[in-house]
Amino acid sequence: MARAARRFAPLPGLFTFTVDVEPHGADRAGGETRRLLALLAEAGAHGTFFVLDEVARTDPGLVKDIARAGHEVASHGHAHRHLAEEGPARFRAGMVVARDRLGQLTGAAPVGFRAPYFSLTPAAAWAPEVLAELGFAYSSSVLPAWNPLAGWPGAPRQPFRWPCGLLELPVPVARFGPWHLPFLGGMYLRWLPPWRLRSLVRRWAADQRGAEGALWSYCHPYDLDEAAALERRADASRLASLMLWLNRGPTLPRLSGLLAGRRSESFAARLPGLAAGAPVFAPPVAPGLGTAAAPAE
Ligand SMILES: [Zn+2]
Repeated sequence: MARAARRFAPLPGLFTFTVDVEPHGADRAGGETRRLLALLAEAGAHGTFFVLDEVARTDPGLVKDIARAGHEVASHGHAHRHLAEEGPARFRAGMVVARDRLGQLTGAAPVGFRAPYFSLTPAAAWAPEVLAELGFAYSSSVLPAWNPLAGWPGAPRQPFRWPCGLLELPVPVARFGPWHLPFLGGMYLRWLPPWRLRSLVRRWAADQRGAEGALWSYCHPYDLDEAAALERRADASRLASLMLWLNRGPTLPRLSGLLAGRRSESFAARLPGLAAGAPVFAPPVAPGLGTAAAPAE
């Protein structure tokens, strides 16, 4: 644990611990999410939980417990699908349902959104406007680099505003050879060997050039579920299913190491600071992209 904490030493003292609350297997999101709530309570930390509508519908008590513990409840969308597959009309209709359900459960409409798979890509450039129109203040949905699953190469790596005014909090990435990896979350946090993780941490910190940096981590309930049986996921290949299942042991110690000696506050609490000076990013409009008629990629 002390060793895990030292690995993160170059990172700033303030960050946001985020969780994408989505089901895996039968009824397992609840148990693992409660372990994360306990971890945060022990550290005296607060985070942001992006809850998928299916979880809010089937386990409303969990959403209430997250809010009661002082964390921010935000939306992970209605369907766990890439935004480009959803399309603007279906996305909008689903987000109305998801937003209203969370609002009823917590007493306040959510202001934050995270796209499934960080799928706010050039093929879904219509999404920020829909979110702003529905009253969302920020999105945390862009992986600002090339990535085999979803990414937006060329998007800013620091908080920025879409032309519609919505604030975007892109995933912190650090350079690794020709790639930029979201090193503080999910599979990356689980699979990176300690020495590689340490070097990515150092690189990210150096890239901030003295600024505090908009640091955040992310994880899923399944990232720490070591008891779950291996199953072929509907949204992943056989190999990816295996990768997502294996090596879940390091998640909790690494997240504890990140929390040690560091303060985590929800995005909602940090918004004024994160938004200060955020530049506007107006994506170049490519023919066939960014419209309702955009072909699925
Ligand atoms: Zn997700």
